[in-house]
Amino acid sequence: MTATGRPLLNRRLAEFGTTVFAEMSALAVATGSINLGQGFPDTDGPESVREAAVRALRDGRGNQYPPGPGIRELRAAVAGHQRRFHGLEYDPETEVLVTAGATEAIAAALLALVEPGDEVIALEPYYDSYAACVALAGGVRVPVTLRPTTDPAPAYRLDPDELRAAVTPRTRLLLLNTPHNPTGTVLGREELTAIAELAVERDLLVVTDEVYEHLVFDGEHVPIASLPGMRERTVTISSAGKTFSFTGWKVGWVTGTPELVAAVRSAKQYLTYVSAGPFQYAVAEALALPDDYYTTLREDLRAKRDLLVDGLRAVGLTVYRPAGTYFVTTDIRPLGEKDGVAFCRALPERCGVVAVPNAVFYDRAEEGAHFVRFAFCKREEVLREAVERLRRL
Ligand code: PMP
Ligand code: GLN
Repeated sequence: MTATGRPLLNRRLAEFGTTVFAEMSALAVATGSINLGQGFPDTDGPESVREAAVRALRDGRGNQYPPGPGIRELRAAVAGHQRRFHGLEYDPETEVLVTAGATEAIAAALLALVEPGDEVIALEPYYDSYAACVALAGGVRVPVTLRPTTDPAPAYRLDPDELRAAVTPRTRLLLLNTPHNPTGTVLGREELTAIAELAVERDLLVVTDEVYEHLVFDGEHVPIASLPGMRERTVTISSAGKTFSFTGWKVGWVTGTPELVAAVRSAKQYLTYVSAGPFQYAVAEALALPDDYYTTLREDLRAKRDLLVDGLRAVGLTVYRPAGTYFVTTDIRPLGEKDGVAFCRALPERCGVVAVPNAVFYDRAEEGAHFVRFAFCKREEVLREAVERLRRL
């Protein structure tokens, strides 16, 4: 409170507090625990890409403000990537925008496209910045819950009827995320087709967060922009953090029609104007890496997924085997636990491991109360040690 009795933080942000990632990473450092909470790899991406950043810095490329939409080389590389992996054509001049990570792209897209009072449908549980950015834009978030089932095997499902029922005359856009954090669900072509048909029928915009597009172990990643009627209404977001294991570089991008990209750019230019120039040159080189880079990344993470999934099962948790991302969601009830938040707060003291409670990714926290997420983007020996420690439970 200030002297005038008014809270300092404005009411749009008041409910959000500190992000769970900051809280849990601080707890990991304070207790010396293995951090399977915040999702970041414990080994850096390719040496050649790191060297490309150093070269750009030394050569004086990007040390002064890069152009607002991003350097031409990176916009061309993003367009090339969309063509090469997804068969999508984007004009690097007008249909690609470089952002400060996917996080800024999400914020800019929502600030650009949402009027106060507009409803934004998002798949719950959701990445925590979605709720905060919808609130900053003055929008109303409308969660559609991915529901866990254990029949025939543990998995999360989207109910297309529930999604359809959530659309009202005030719905402005659908905020999607596939592959999905924190559940590891990869929306299939059938589910995405149903979403696309709904978007066309109700004339909705779609903002789709596809940062885990290359981390798919089962099934395939289908960009919703590739489905009929979707290119003209979809803002696609991705970033270099996950694909190249440089989460600290914060280079992301948006692709869409010139009108959509111009709208997002209008917001983006007043958020950061631009982000770190030399990294943009390095990411442009990274995007051109040969296919075997992408395959190796995926296969390496698949082995880690299997290691952690098996380990967590052996500990006694119910494990929702992820089809994509580098997260695995577990149900803690078989251990006699009910409250994921309390469980995660106590876990470092109990056995020296940090995880994240899924409850924080829900509007109705009770929906996610007994689910906990572990990240497997860590060295194998670290994952093995984490499982060893968790056995103490
Ligand atoms: N979207 C999702 C679903 C994420 O998990 C993350 C975080 N890692 C981001 C966006 C943010 O990406 P970036 O680090 O590029 O801002
Ligand atoms: N996306 C990462 C996660 O889900 C963390 C990003 C962040 O720290 N904001 O763990």
